[in-house]
Amino acid sequence: MTGGVEKVVLATNNPKKLVELRRVIRDAGLAVEVLGLGDFDPYPEPAETERTFEGNAFIKAEAAARHTGLPALADDSGLEVDELNSMPGVRSARWAGPECNDAANNALLLAQLAGVPAKRRGARFVCALALVLPDGGRQLWREEMPGRIAEEERGDGGFGYDPLFLPDGRACTSAELTAAQKDAISHRGKAVRAFVAWLKEQ
Ligand code: IMP
Repeated sequence: MTGGVEKVVLATNNPKKLVELRRVIRDAGLAVEVLGLGDFDPYPEPAETERTFEGNAFIKAEAAARHTGLPALADDSGLEVDELNSMPGVRSARWAGPECNDAANNALLLAQLAGVPAKRRGARFVCALALVLPDGGRQLWREEMPGRIAEEERGDGGFGYDPLFLPDGRACTSAELTAAQKDAISHRGKAVRAFVAWLKEQ
């Protein structure tokens, strides 16, 4: 028994996020079954209309809890760049336009920081992880990975802005880390471990 949480649905269609959460839960020795949205009838995904990661994570978790009747977990994440007043933020996935891809987003970010010296290239990845329980209970974990934006892309691991992100204390980009190295320091890895620590305490 884990505070009544024996099953949780992760509000994602991303199989990598499901695998990661199952691995962290199993490594923690917890008997909590993790389901994905693919295990349920489809429902219209809610629009992410909030201006914060936290707000959008709760929109996704609330919709999944309502639809499934189970405890639902959802994450929202993105990149905040100091020189850009913390943008792209909640717009990270579509920074270069609604139909854009990672390459276009990275090219735009590099162009926006052209000529900006290293000391002003500070940035952080942020992850908000929201849990909504069937009785309306809510929990939130917010974690960051601080670093700065490189002058050029390096590495082919990870996804998104990883080839441009130099995590603090590392001499490489997060696209040059192994998955396990990135999990150990990443915003999402830390948030998922905080959730699992909370489950353990229940
Ligand atoms: P989502 O929360 O998975 O939808 O991620 C939003 C966007 O933030 C992604 O499409 C990426 O552009 C960016 N992002 C979030 N986390 C990471 C990361 O760990 N590495 C690189 N980009 C990320």
